[in-house]
Amino acid sequence: MAGPTITRVRTIATSPGEGNIQRRLIVVKVETSEPGLYGLGCATFTQRHSAVRTVVDEFLAPLLVGRDPCRIEDIWQTVHVNAYWRSGPVMNNALSGVDMALWDILGKLAGLPVYQLLGGKCREGAAVYRHADGATLEQVEERVRQFMAQGYQYIRAQWGGYGGRQALPAAPDGAMPGAYYDPAGYARSVVTLFDHLREALGFGVNLLHDVHERLAPIEAVRLAKLLEPHRLFFLEDLLPPEQVDWFRLVRQQCTTPMAMGELFVNTQEWRPLVEERLIDFIRCHISAIGGLTAARKIQVMCELMGVRTAWHGPGDVSPIGHACNVHLDVMAPNFGVQEWAGFLDVEREMFPGCPELRDGYVYPNDKPGWGMDMDEALAAKYPCPEGVLEWTQARLPDGSPAYP
Ligand code: MG
Repeated sequence: MAGPTITRVRTIATSPGEGNIQRRLIVVKVETSEPGLYGLGCATFTQRHSAVRTVVDEFLAPLLVGRDPCRIEDIWQTVHVNAYWRSGPVMNNALSGVDMALWDILGKLAGLPVYQLLGGKCREGAAVYRHADGATLEQVEERVRQFMAQGYQYIRAQWGGYGGRQALPAAPDGAMPGAYYDPAGYARSVVTLFDHLREALGFGVNLLHDVHERLAPIEAVRLAKLLEPHRLFFLEDLLPPEQVDWFRLVRQQCTTPMAMGELFVNTQEWRPLVEERLIDFIRCHISAIGGLTAARKIQVMCELMGVRTAWHGPGDVSPIGHACNVHLDVMAPNFGVQEWAGFLDVEREMFPGCPELRDGYVYPNDKPGWGMDMDEALAAKYPCPEGVLEWTQARLPDGSPAYP
């Protein structure tokens, strides 16, 4: 008997909540010839959401209709090269939406959750880290203590937003408006912050910090070295993808653990870092690298090299994307920690079967596939707003453009 074929591929866009342009979610729905059998995948690239929709709806749908949804690897390879020019966050997110939806369909056909298809659980739940920030040292400490009291064992501490919140040096006359930060003041403030937190809290809690690529490379090396005594669980995105060669110097200077990769979109970006063991945690944004099929290969290579996983889990990932993170987390022997932004109530209502968080651990659904659904009528009540991103218009104190 012939198996099901793909009959329809389309995107569903929604921005649950208060019309936030930073939570424009894109989900791909792949429907099949078998009544009621469909899959859902995350294709969320909130900053360029309509570009991803165009790739899926205008280019991938006609390519995929009529194909066998179980040939996931074949379809991944076919879509990956179909535009001849490949990679990049727009095309990878489109590919991810299809890829995750196909894994969902395969799970439903097998009657098994996706983590079972990958080899089964190594752990029941995945430990998560939460984000604690505040305008003063005392506020950051208080927020960390609140998370500890709620059972969290891993907490990322930031004094101010990314790049800190220090007084800015004067800019030249006529400097452009933008999201200004001062790398030098920020770097000093991070050491002060962790001096304070370790003094107040001791070493029993796992503390993390995100540099968000906001330092010049040699300043980044120095910060990693200065933070060695504070024994962070990891230091996140210390360098921009364009400057990863500097990780060799970091390794020569200190043992502060490095987590890297939320901006990566291409195999060539992460492979040398893992091969040379220059990082300790890989934290790609799974939809930006092409979905579960791509992430699974990275996870296996990292396992062989002693590198752990810490997949990117911000608010601009759909609940389907978070489920994909968690299914990989519970099966991977080299899982490290999972970033957790938490769901809005309306997201949980819109995506029945969301992963559940209890006492610092997140648990996948045990139903077939992702074990989730999407209420399209509810999604339609929250259309994606248009707007220009402000926070990525980053500038240095002298007014020049900077990494956001
Ligand atoms: Mg980050």
